[in-house]
Parts: sequence; C-alpha cells; structure tokens
Amino acid sequence: MTNRRQFLTTSLSAALSTQVSSCATLAGGGHIDAHVHVWTPDTEKYPLATGFTKAQMKPASFTPEQLFAHCKPEGVNRIVLIQMSYYKTDNRYMLDMMAAHPGTFSGVAIIDETAADVRGRMKALKAQGVRGFRLYPQGNDVEGWLASPGITEMWKVAADESLNMCLLINPEALWPVAKMCEKNPQTPVVIDHFARLGMKGPPDRSQLDRLLHLSKYPKVTVKTSAFYALGKKQPPYLDLGPMIKECRDQFGADRLMWASDCPFQVDPGHNYHDSIALVRDRLDFLTASDKAAMLHGTAKRVFFS
Ligand SMILES: [Zn+2]
Repeated sequence: MTNRRQFLTTSLSAALSTQVSSCATLAGGGHIDAHVHVWTPDTEKYPLATGFTKAQMKPASFTPEQLFAHCKPEGVNRIVLIQMSYYKTDNRYMLDMMAAHPGTFSGVAIIDETAADVRGRMKALKAQGVRGFRLYPQGNDVEGWLASPGITEMWKVAADESLNMCLLINPEALWPVAKMCEKNPQTPVVIDHFARLGMKGPPDRSQLDRLLHLSKYPKVTVKTSAFYALGKKQPPYLDLGPMIKECRDQFGADRLMWASDCPFQVDPGHNYHDSIALVRDRLDFLTASDKAAMLHGTAKRVFFS
C-alpha cells in the first residue's frame, strides 16, 4: 500500500516535473524535432553523390541556421538530423554540423551495407553521436532486401549497440518489417512518417492495422511526422488526428515522436508552426503527458541517450 508520505512525495515530484517541463517550454526550449535534413550550397567542400545535381537541391540551401529560424521560436532546441539522399553514404556534412553545435543534434546516418566491416563503421559513427541508420528498400523485393547479409548484420549490430534501424518505407513493406522485428526482438526500430500511410489519399484501414500491429514489438517506435505530405496535405492537418489517436492508443505516446521533416515542412503552403501546433495545441485527445512524450520524451530516450 502506498502511504500518505510516499503519495505526497510522488505527487510533489510529479508536480515539480510538470512545472519544470512547462518552464522549459516557456523559456523557448525543451522540444525535440525527431526528423530534419540539412544541406549546404557548398558543393566544393561537400560534393553531391553521383547522380545528383545542384538543381535537384530544393531549397538550394538548408543549413542549421536556416532551421533554427523556424524551430527556435516554437520552443524546439534539439533536433535529430537525418542524412540527406544527395550525399548518399558521405555523412560528413551532417557529422560536421553535429560537431559544430554540441548537444543540439543527434544523427541518423546512411552506410553502404554491402561494403566490408558493417559493425566497425556503425560503431565509429556511434562514437560521433550517430544513434540510428536510415534504411530504405531498394526495389520491390523488400523481404529479399531485409534478408540480405548486409542488412541482417546491421540489425544484429543495432541490437548489440542500441542503435536504431530507421525505416523509410511504404505501407506495403510493413508486413516484411514485422517478420524482421519478430526475428530481431532486441533491435530498436523507428518507423518514419507513419510508414507514409495516407501519402496517396486517406490512410487505408488494413494498412493502418499493419502499422498498429508493430506495437506488439516493444522496441518499435513511430515518427508522427511529415504532415505536409499525408492525408489532405493541408494545414492545420486535423484530418490526421484519428490516425495519431490510434497510434497513441496502440503504441502509447512514449513510443511516438513528433517530427517536422524539414525543410519540406516549410515549403510554400506549409510552415513549421502548423506542424508542431497539431500535436501541441490542436488535438484534444492528447493529454499533457502524451504531448511531453511526443514532443521530447520519446526522442530524448531514443536519440539523445
Ligand atoms: Zn525526411
């Protein structure tokens, strides 16, 4: 039985922690954006990967300073950087920005899983602050790709080193991913942007069920993100509320992370405020503790520890 003194201590510390987190928010800090890409127009120092041209970089520049102009006024002061496709497996720009802003960024890198010493390269990137690796299926054979030696090794190392397998997938890939989670229950897995459910119209019921099914694997977390690209694709994005509610109900908010997917969230017709405001201000079913988890608690645990 909880005695009165214990009860008081617990409620006092709960009250204090609420106060602390609202103070942090009021001070213009405290939230974490779990998914942003940065790049520089300086393609001399940071050349684009083969197959990419400067004309494909849209916007032409999105540096940390440009990001801060959007996120800091909204109380976001930590960000998870996701390696940009323009640079393929050359993670230097992301790593340099992480080093230039200590404590501000975590990172999700891309490596060539077919090259030698997957384990050594993952560990070296971990030492530089990387906490996850971005994976996206090559071609239609998702099962075959997941079963390849390089990806198999990455999932093993990820379990050993507490690194996240960050999956950019379409809903069709959710089933093979579930099988992979079954085989690798210790591997932390992050599903980007609700597995892009609702990218081609309203989210499909059976596909949403497949996403929710992943909640049976405790190491799986989901990014509730990229609102500009999903459902009606129109601010204030309230049509995404029911999908967010189902994710909250099934996974619990401590396995959900809000993210903007900048710079795409700040393309014309969209803005940073409307992305964070959906979770922070506009969904009545989210409790204060749900919001704290989705806006910083989960990302802190997954990407900043
Ligand atoms: Zn993205």
